[in-house]
Amino acid sequence: MMSEPMGSNIINPFEVALTQLDEAAKIVGIDRGMHDVLAQPKRVLTVSLPTRMDNDEIRVFTGFRSQHSDARGPFKGGIRYHPQVSIDEVKALSMWMTWKCAIADIPYGGGKGGIICNPKEMSIGELERMTRRYAYAIADIIGPRTDIPAPDVYTGGKEMSWIMDTYSALKGNFVQPEVITGKPLAIGGSLGRNEATGRGLSFTVREAAKKLGIGLQTANVAVQGFGNAGQFAAQLVEEQGAKVVAVSDSQGGVYNKNGIHIGSLRKHKEKTGSVVGFPESRSISNDEILETDCTILIPAALENQITKKNANKVKAKMVAEAANGPTTPEADEILYKNETLVIPDVLANGGGVTVSYFEWLQNLRREYWTEDQVNGMLDRNVTKAFADVYETHEKYQVNMRKASIALAVGRVAEAIKIRGLWP
Ligand code: NAD
Repeated sequence: MMSEPMGSNIINPFEVALTQLDEAAKIVGIDRGMHDVLAQPKRVLTVSLPTRMDNDEIRVFTGFRSQHSDARGPFKGGIRYHPQVSIDEVKALSMWMTWKCAIADIPYGGGKGGIICNPKEMSIGELERMTRRYAYAIADIIGPRTDIPAPDVYTGGKEMSWIMDTYSALKGNFVQPEVITGKPLAIGGSLGRNEATGRGLSFTVREAAKKLGIGLQTANVAVQGFGNAGQFAAQLVEEQGAKVVAVSDSQGGVYNKNGIHIGSLRKHKEKTGSVVGFPESRSISNDEILETDCTILIPAALENQITKKNANKVKAKMVAEAANGPTTPEADEILYKNETLVIPDVLANGGGVTVSYFEWLQNLRREYWTEDQVNGMLDRNVTKAFADVYETHEKYQVNMRKASIALAVGRVAEAIKIRGLWP
């Protein structure tokens, strides 16, 4: 997974999340009490995780699980392992998950978890023991109908498998795949899950191109980040006829005005570990990639990449955010003034959680769907989400991010209102 996640910046992500909520609350006109309900997670659990290291010493890691809202369904959201995980980071990310699920209109709320650790410096055995201890520590607040975690930065199928196994052992000792998503296929993962974020993003790009009157056959694309999200996003926009002219990863970037074949670039990266040095291309820096002369820019790496310093230099007509939080609030305003359409993260990368939802449904029903079924349902879902956000953007004359969050806040507030306050 990625090398430098949310916590590495100086901007407090929870403050950003609260500012976004304030703006959305004004747009949809929710009252102070409802606003206050949405401003805090319903529960944040901090856990201490004593773990036996390979040298037989005990190290105590700190983990969190933030459960923002379950008004529309069980909490849902990933677990990240990183030295800079913080309580404010998981709180912000759990709020964004609430919005993301509401925009996708799937019956989930928002949650997020994390452990402060450096997984790159841990052995598989240490990771397994720490992960199982975390699963044990949060077992009473997660569950197939209460809170369903998933992978995030530096976690993947193997951590999900250990959590599922630990939870199943603790809670009745029968297999419960529906407690977690992002699992390997052998234990109940879904076909199409790996590509889902990039595929969902490509559908939002297709829909936005129609609104802007851009033919994808004539569009040039630049992609920052060539990991899970970036690779599939690049491949799938290429399949739609667009020309990917620039791609970067943490080592640097490559450019070819005639187009870069994504399949060949992936093979090059598999062999050499980076996109750098790809034949028939010239190298460009990670700063240049954001300012590349292109129609569509896809940030798919880190947060806070487009800022007030470089937003005026962005030439793209459309920015499709595969990464979470790549654009700062000031940059958002600049792009809006310059008439660059931003497809915000909560909409553009919602394909991942949508296919997680499909995985959960398959697990609950003990059935397996074909990849075509999964992709077809994803297309319908994302196309509808895009249309809903675009309509909100036109109705309130606000940028797409404010429109997305306003739409979500409206949906969540409505659910809370209808359910009423207990007691
Ligand atoms: P990943 O680790 O698979 O890939 C990250 C990529 O970013 C790598 O290619 C890395 O080399 C590159 N990178 C790191 N530093 C860079 C830099 N300074 N400049 C350019 N590239 C750099 O991670 P991922 O899963 O693809 O996640 C990327 C982003 O997408 C994150 O913000 C993540 O939260 C978001 N996201 C991912 C998914 C998913 O399903 N994978 C879903 C939703 C959101």
